[in-house]
Amino acid sequence: MDITGSTAIVTGGASGIGAAVARALAARGATVLVADLNAEKGEALAAEIGGVFASVDVTRTAQVTAAVEAAAEIAPLRACVNSAGIGWAQRTIGRDGLLEQAHDLDAFRKVVEINLIGTFDVTRQAATVMSRNEPDEDGQRGAIVNLASVAAFDGQIGQASYSASKGGVVGMTLPVARDLSAAGIRLNTVAPGLIDTPIYDAFPNPDEFKANLGQNVLFPKRLGRADELASMVVECLTNSYMNGETIRVDGGIRMP
Ligand code: NAD
Repeated sequence: MDITGSTAIVTGGASGIGAAVARALAARGATVLVADLNAEKGEALAAEIGGVFASVDVTRTAQVTAAVEAAAEIAPLRACVNSAGIGWAQRTIGRDGLLEQAHDLDAFRKVVEINLIGTFDVTRQAATVMSRNEPDEDGQRGAIVNLASVAAFDGQIGQASYSASKGGVVGMTLPVARDLSAAGIRLNTVAPGLIDTPIYDAFPNPDEFKANLGQNVLFPKRLGRADELASMVVECLTNSYMNGETIRVDGGIRMP
């Protein structure tokens, strides 16, 4: 599927994997609408890649509506990537008080609200707008990629909310792909392993933490780079024969 001359919306596009995806899509000739809470980083990136920034909280459905409609005003919206997400409670708590803090109900709701329900809402609304596009020669009107995580399959201590949210993203991939295929829209999910992004900045000793994490990777023994995720996301968007798949990009990690 050719995205040249189309619009792409990337939630969480101001940082990390989303920013790498935004750059890669712009290099493919798409106009990228960077949808993020972080206006400073989002506006800077949009200026760099000739895109547009929109201040969007993916848990606010009216803001999502405005963003997908704004994207479609520029050019047909043919690509959507859901990279907005937050990490898990472990980064603030360590192992003590785990049940009380990691299993705090408000924190659990917040992670699920952003990572799962926000992803579903953006998917649903982007697909509605895409369904108005003229189909290409394959009958395709657009493609969506959601970011899950290896934590969907093997979550670690303190990760209940995060794993539940990402497990939900994996779980909805097939049924939603089936629903959207009738409208000529594909949906795939990419599940990253441990990727070096600002998501770890809030941890107490991020560099030490990331160095230790890298040792868990089978090969190569390092964290992944955002561009190594972006290339898979772009492949899933543009390869017209990819649909309903969940792909791990994780250096072969199997967390001990
Ligand atoms: P990141 O922190 O660098 O970027 C996430 C972006 O999402 C930020 O710009 C943030 O402002 C934005 N965001 C957060 N909440 C939002 C909201 N409610 N509305 C709109 N934007 C919001 O993180 P990243 O590492 O690039 O993560 C991208 C995606 O990949 C996330 O879904 C994350 O869970 C997933 N992931 C990351 C890793 C990793 O190791 N970095 C591993 C597995 C999965």
